Amino acid sequence: MEGLVDKKIIIVSNREPYSLNKGGFQKTVGGLVSALDPLMQATRGVWIASSPKGDKRDGPLRVKVPPDSPSYTLRLVPLSSSDIEGYYNGYSNRFLWPLCHITLDRIYLTRSYWRSYSRVNSLFAKAVAEEAGEDSIIWLQDYHLALAAAGIRALRPEAFVSLFWHIPWPPHGVFRICPQKKEILEGLLANDLLGFQLPSFMQNFVTCAERELGAEVDPVEGAIRHKGRLTRLRTFPISVDFGWFEAAAASPEAESFITKFLRKRDLGHLKLGLSVNRLDYTKGVIKCLEAVELFFTKYPRYRRKFTLIKVAVPTRKVEPFLSYMERVERKVESINRRFGSGGWRPVEYITSNLSHTELAALYRRADLGVISSVYDGMNLVAKEFLASQLDLSGSILISEFAGASEEIPGVTVINPYDTEACVDAMKAALETDPEDRKRKLLQARAHVRKHDIYRWVEDIFSAMKRIRDEQIPSEINGGSAVVLKR
Ligand code: UDP
Repeated sequence: MEGLVDKKIIIVSNREPYSLNKGGFQKTVGGLVSALDPLMQATRGVWIASSPKGDKRDGPLRVKVPPDSPSYTLRLVPLSSSDIEGYYNGYSNRFLWPLCHITLDRIYLTRSYWRSYSRVNSLFAKAVAEEAGEDSIIWLQDYHLALAAAGIRALRPEAFVSLFWHIPWPPHGVFRICPQKKEILEGLLANDLLGFQLPSFMQNFVTCAERELGAEVDPVEGAIRHKGRLTRLRTFPISVDFGWFEAAAASPEAESFITKFLRKRDLGHLKLGLSVNRLDYTKGVIKCLEAVELFFTKYPRYRRKFTLIKVAVPTRKVEPFLSYMERVERKVESINRRFGSGGWRPVEYITSNLSHTELAALYRRADLGVISSVYDGMNLVAKEFLASQLDLSGSILISEFAGASEEIPGVTVINPYDTEACVDAMKAALETDPEDRKRKLLQARAHVRKHDIYRWVEDIFSAMKRIRDEQIPSEINGGSAVVLKR
């Protein structure tokens, strides 16, 4: 990766890039960690994350990672079990997550959640203040850390702090439900730079800041002025490691996996649909299954010719995800009971976590990819699907409520609430002219190839650097540039 970074970088996220297993610290799986790990190794920065073991954790709070070539520091912030419950399961995931995804009947909030959230954000801020040097660049990740910048600023007024909001920002009519709306907005406006996935989310945030705080918009700077501070707002649609997925889809491991997978389930002769996500109500899993049910009702000739592989991995094993999982299981069973015959199942339901190589193999083989989210910041699965489509043989349908549909050209957009239209779109996609499919896939793939995860990191750091360099006196604006390589 070509990118220039000449400052000490401090990344702060709820989740750690390396987690402690029996054999020591091991890299966690995910696009963000893969993209940032080389940057952190090159710049020898500090990654601050919560320690997930609750009260039981012992061991060092500062370790050098990666274990085989120690080059940057992982600093852990230990949290008590009750803080994990209140800050993470509570305020972050039972309140902010459904609020920002506009699934309001799933919101559950107590005052103790907010107290934990504030306390944990202060703990993160304190850890950052201890690690930060004079000209560090501090980059906060996501909705778990909305108050951290304000805490950091109280301890280190000169710090340069930025936050990327990975999930949607809802319209003001929804956000105003939040009892702590002023605190959240002011916490975020303590950042020098705020990043969003899409212009529409950024605009929603601006409206909230104007209406709730009376903040002033500076259209020339692309910024908000509030209480004498200037916060720049920018959009950076997150992406995937395109080259990695492309190579993985062509690998012998992927080929061996898909051969065994199809043989074991007797799927080799069928047209295959594929829908992959964590088991989460924002992903519209029930909507997708309803569409499949109507598909086999309206177009019976696809029975025994088409199967939907539905990968839905339960990651949050608490309410309301458990009830949602039960609904999904009941729906899958009922579809399979209603239409299945002679060993053929309309829905192949998979709940185990698949590796990225296994997913790349499935993405490549699929004739149809379905992204049915009812609201989704971006949806990386859509981009992984496109990167793995080496044979240009699979169409993709993306919900208009997933960020990916707004960003990527050449994809077919669906409304998951309009079941019959989805069903017709599925049929049209399966029957589309191969040349037309190829043309669209080439266009979509070219976009994702160009705007990959490395470009995302580079764009964000360039923006941080530009804004910071404008703000600080030139005498501390020195340092040698580090060129990052992929
Ligand atoms: N994923 C995975 N194994 C699975 C299912 C999903 O590794 O069995 C990964 C998938 O490859 C993607 C991520 O989980 O990288 C999901 O990201 P996305 O943006 O689609 O949704 P999120 O879960 O972040 O809301």
